[in-house]
Amino acid sequence: MRLVFPAEQMTGMIQQARAALPAEACGVLAAHRGRICAVLPVRNVAQHPQQGFVMEPGDLVRALYRVDRAGWTLAGFYHSHPAAPALPSPADVAVGEGLPGLAQVIISLQDPRRPQVQAWCLRPGEVERMAISTAAGQLPEEEKPLSGAGQAAVLLTALLALLVVVGTAVLLLPPAPVLPPAAP
Ligand SMILES: [Zn+2]
Repeated sequence: MRLVFPAEQMTGMIQQARAALPAEACGVLAAHRGRICAVLPVRNVAQHPQQGFVMEPGDLVRALYRVDRAGWTLAGFYHSHPAAPALPSPADVAVGEGLPGLAQVIISLQDPRRPQVQAWCLRPGEVERMAISTAAGQLPEEEKPLSGAGQAAVLLTALLALLVVVGTAVLLLPPAPVLPPAAP
């Protein structure tokens, strides 16, 4: 399974996760025509927001209503791990298993310079990693010539997207094979 995640939405989601530090951020992902089209932040009202998240019910209802009213589809949910890898915790698995078919995206800020984003599809007894593509066709390079500030913003966005892609690719690599010792 693949999640098409334009760089603009990816950057916005990572910025929200950074702004929420040291707490976890969370929200709703909407899709349109097979790609993520909106990242809808929801307040985290967990008693210990640095160790978990509970979506504020009013925000959640408003986000779902907006998805419905816009004619989008609900793609899934996201949350951040301020100091842990982008792997689903036992609590994440328990929640995700009740929402089969929806993406559970986790942003890890364990290394603040190199955010990691992973998408998971969770079914009872099954944890499946989803590939993320950043949909290069949506990057603003295709627009008219940009000012210096605009070019800097594009470069920064592209760099962030590249970091995410490289980070994802590295995590997806299979372990190196063990080579037999060379014959004498
Ligand atoms: Zn989590």
